[in-house]
Amino acid sequence: MIRLDNLCKQYRLGGETVTALDHFCLDVAAGEYLSVMGPSGSGKSTLLNMLGLLDQPDSGEYWLNDEAMYQLTEERRAGCRNSQVGFVFQAYHLIDRMTARENIELPLVLNGTAPAERRPQVDTLLQRLGLDKHAEHLPHQLSGGQRQRVAIARAVIRKPALLLADEPTGNLDTHAGGEVIALLEELNEEGITLLVVTHDPAIGERAKRRLWMRDGQLVSDSLEHSGAPA
Ligand code: ADP
Ligand code: MG
Repeated sequence: MIRLDNLCKQYRLGGETVTALDHFCLDVAAGEYLSVMGPSGSGKSTLLNMLGLLDQPDSGEYWLNDEAMYQLTEERRAGCRNSQVGFVFQAYHLIDRMTARENIELPLVLNGTAPAERRPQVDTLLQRLGLDKHAEHLPHQLSGGQRQRVAIARAVIRKPALLLADEPTGNLDTHAGGEVIALLEELNEEGITLLVVTHDPAIGERAKRRLWMRDGQLVSDSLEHSGAPA
């Protein structure tokens, strides 16, 4: 489903050049559950931003469902991002002036879904995530765990194939974080491909496949140690 071929990304900060991704290669099959761990600054967020088509590398190629993403026009790539990828951030990134319901509904508004079709889809998700009592609440009226559940609902309302979460429990206590991870895992069991960046080993170890990064490189992939003999 995903193939990254030698992605390179450098940032220039003042006079210095920082290598965020260094010839990064990865293959991911549909339905996998991966965690990405590694020290701060090792390139985890850069990797997720590439996978989520939020940023572009200096060189390399990204194949998503057999389509070379950097050969596409900006507009077609944005189309892929909107239809195929959901993104969850540490800081939720909800719109403060919109209710939980409106936040979740927003991707459907933006893609032109008719109001009569939007309503039942949002209601289903609100119920399923235990948020029905909070539908009309603004983000500041919700707990951190509830906000992140709203953010997850917004990320999956268009039924993307790929769900990317960058430190999704980073602002949450252990209990709320556990609920958020359980929800992500439930979505994965239903078929969504899931990548979770975390610095919490207890969370990282839950994933079936664990990646470790350092200095923009993949230094360990648990799949390579657990595979069948050659
Ligand atoms: P991680 O998520 O593992 O902490 P990042 O992907 O955020 O790592 O960052 C990798 C490296 O790239 C770091 O050295 C970071 O400082 C640098 N970096 C990331 N984003 C930018 C940016 N927008 N401008 C300059 N440097 C950046
Ligand atoms: Mg990061």
